[in-house]
Amino acid sequence: MTDNIPPSLPTPAGPSFDELPLPPHLQSALRQLEYLTMTPIQAASLPIALAGHDLIAQAKTGSGKTAAFALTLLTNLNPRYFAAQALVLCPTRELAEQVAQEIRRLARFMANIKILSLCGGAAMGPQRTSLEHGAHILVGTPGRIMDHLERGSLKLDGLNTLVLDEADRMLDMGFYDDIVYVAQQCSAERQTLLFSATYPEGIARLASQFLHRPREVKLLERHEGSKIRQRFYEVKPEERLQAVGVLLRHYRPVSALAFCNTKQQCRDLLKVLHTQGFHALTLNGDLEQRERDQVLIQFANRSCSVLVATDVAARGLDIAQLEVVINVDVTPDPEIYIHRIGRTGRADEEGWALSLCSPSDTHRVAALGPLMGGEPEWLRLSTLQGGNDEPPVPPMATLQILGGRKEKLRPGDVLGALTGEAGFKREQVGKITVTDQSTYVAVDRDIARDVVRKLAAGKIKGKAVKVRLLEN
Ligand code: ADP
Ligand code: MG
Repeated sequence: MTDNIPPSLPTPAGPSFDELPLPPHLQSALRQLEYLTMTPIQAASLPIALAGHDLIAQAKTGSGKTAAFALTLLTNLNPRYFAAQALVLCPTRELAEQVAQEIRRLARFMANIKILSLCGGAAMGPQRTSLEHGAHILVGTPGRIMDHLERGSLKLDGLNTLVLDEADRMLDMGFYDDIVYVAQQCSAERQTLLFSATYPEGIARLASQFLHRPREVKLLERHEGSKIRQRFYEVKPEERLQAVGVLLRHYRPVSALAFCNTKQQCRDLLKVLHTQGFHALTLNGDLEQRERDQVLIQFANRSCSVLVATDVAARGLDIAQLEVVINVDVTPDPEIYIHRIGRTGRADEEGWALSLCSPSDTHRVAALGPLMGGEPEWLRLSTLQGGNDEPPVPPMATLQILGGRKEKLRPGDVLGALTGEAGFKREQVGKITVTDQSTYVAVDRDIARDVVRKLAAGKIKGKAVKVRLLEN
């Protein structure tokens, strides 16, 4: 086990496993293990996983993720069929052993189930012999599983459940390609479950390669230690869009994400925010890839205060330092709500999740109650300070330099040009992002025009360049 104290163990009033379509032998095992109620991640993920959907589940260490996938793969299992039916990929041998142990504990009332762990550092021979005798469930590290596949000692064409456990750590350890290779060898019919404690960028990329229309479950800490503070403001329907500006002027975040339920609402809100003087951008499915990149780059490098998006457009977005998430409309779907507000309060930063609700939305908020841990906090817009203050100005601005990876431009070249001849200080330069055709540089907003002038007059890597300031 990790040295974390299990922080999200079920509360006495948590949902019971009885409500799930689990076979009786698993219900008995749970009782014997004294798993009386589900942990939050189990309650959120098991109904989805047991219904057969692919799943991306994120919850911190110690929240009970192992049982969530173990119960699913055991439910999917046919004990009479002697072939690899479930495969769990884990980052290390220790974790693989722990997972195998937990599966064994939960499978205690299933007769003749064979669970095998296959990790590097142990001899191949005995593993191969065990595989020849047939095993229902395999738990192993990606590298070793790949070795067995390549040598033909392992077949995964009868697989029904593939689990990636601690996917973030596997990516950190450089297992990306191995995982993709292994997944390609698995039966296309299988269900894939991805579990992770954090949600780095690579996860979305990995998932898009071989998960099939995955549902996403993200779990926040729901007890006192929670970093996300949730507040609800009641507004009249006609005040809703104006109210977003009121919230932003009061809370004054450097970066905020505003969720709308529709594309049209995104467009309307963007118009209102621009009229009020905000530096706002929107992400929607109609953008070309290049435009989408530009929006994301400006938002991530703190050149844009507020990004307006629908849930679909914001999928896979991974942005640190998001101080505020605004729900412009209440979503009726608790999963989406959790997913939205999980964008803030990351990496030990505190965050606000602010929701605008019309009187007719209040019952929807009540439905979110069980997922929030505690009563929603209702406030009045009229009590907010700063309603008439100037909108916050982003600290940075973004310059686009024509020329990128194709021209072999590197961040260091740009930084060198800025701090060398042009005479700017390292601290005045923010994130530098190189794409195929362009390079984007964040610089302190008050020097942005000066930088454009100097770069346009000077050279980068001995060549003249075209530069422009991106406005928003
Ligand atoms: P994670 O994989 O999320 O880090 P684990 O699956 O290792 O967390 O679970 C942490 C601990 O919580 C383990 O000791 C496990 O036995 C225990 N546990 C898991 N689910 C329950 C439950 N429903 N009730 C009580 N204890 C549980
Ligand atoms: Mg785990």
